[in-house]
Amino acid sequence: MPETLKRFEEALDHRPAELVKARQNGQKVVGVFCCYTPLEIIHSLGLIPLKLGWGGDDELAEQGIEYITNIQCPYVRQTIGVFKEGKNLYAVNTDVIAISAVCLQEYRMVEVLRYYFGKETLTLSVPKNYYLPEGKEFFEKEVEGFTAELEKIAGRKLDPEQLRSSVALYAEIRKNTAEIYDYLALDYSPITWKQVITVIHAGFYLSSEKHLSLLKELNSELKTIQVSEKVKPINSVRLLISGSIVAPGNTKIIDVLEDVGVTVVADDICTGQRTFAGFTVKEPTLAGLAEAYLDRIPCAAQLYPDQKTDKRLENIFRQIEDHRADGVLYHTLRFCDPYTFRVEENKELLDAKGIPFLQLHTDYGANDIGQLQTRIQAQMEIIKRRKKEAHHARSQKAV
Ligand code: SF4
Repeated sequence: MPETLKRFEEALDHRPAELVKARQNGQKVVGVFCCYTPLEIIHSLGLIPLKLGWGGDDELAEQGIEYITNIQCPYVRQTIGVFKEGKNLYAVNTDVIAISAVCLQEYRMVEVLRYYFGKETLTLSVPKNYYLPEGKEFFEKEVEGFTAELEKIAGRKLDPEQLRSSVALYAEIRKNTAEIYDYLALDYSPITWKQVITVIHAGFYLSSEKHLSLLKELNSELKTIQVSEKVKPINSVRLLISGSIVAPGNTKIIDVLEDVGVTVVADDICTGQRTFAGFTVKEPTLAGLAEAYLDRIPCAAQLYPDQKTDKRLENIFRQIEDHRADGVLYHTLRFCDPYTFRVEENKELLDAKGIPFLQLHTDYGANDIGQLQTRIQAQMEIIKRRKKEAHHARSQKAV
């Protein structure tokens, strides 16, 4: 394991106390939901952005049912459960909640946090016609209004120079994260997917400056790890993980994959690769940020008017090629409609290219772990057999 990963853990250990101190000194903490909320604006106003949302705890998800129904996704139920329980130090130390949800379930979750837990909330509407000039214009105005609200909370006006430096900081974070993620494409990666996800999730809580310095440190270390020390693929099956959010705490799906020996070489989840992929700020202004956030690889809850130019699908296919994935595991949380609705489409498109596809439909309970393992193992056997046959066919051709 790269030594720097311990430094991420240590930094996280200290983080809640740092937040308490910052709040005592008058700084405000903005808890952010969904990936369309411009962190740069929050940061540039001297506010502290924290990315919130939790998974993996069935009991907390049960607690959320008190405020929402049991046919809501477990991520939303658990996040409400976390606020209800009132023990999570990041939730407790959040002054304001900012949401840019494109998913109705997340909108409702934030309403619940406002109505029942008295949290101040800010909403940034994301247009469904984001691909049209009208949609872009609307979002630019939304971002301006959102900034005006944040200025009131921060008690100061946005400084263009400060915004420029916040944009540069987050661009560096994305660049360094992408460099670390790229190692997963190698035959012998010095870091596993689980570790990459841990590093990305650490950035949800750490100060952006601290996160960047640790990412740089990790990048330097990864370059020095000798081949013999690198993590070997446990078997020859390389998979891409797609689908619903894998929120901090949801180690269930990660552990299931690891236990059966899957080598994950890529993902396209909103708390993984999509935190940095396909994101460029052309100019460090509010308009530039609005454009970059709206043009990012979209969530499945957004509309795709044209399948041929659907950036989410394009991203999956590009990664399959670049990271030489043998197949796709499509993870859907129960009652997560945006991702579940698209299962057949994804399967058909991947089938047409001969790429094996397996859907894992699950929640945070432990009852189905054995069944998930069996299905993944069976899929791995199919992939291994196909690979052997393809190898055999290639050798025959060469003779
Ligand atoms: S996209 Fe899925 S997991 Fe995310 S909030 Fe919506 S329903 Fe829940």
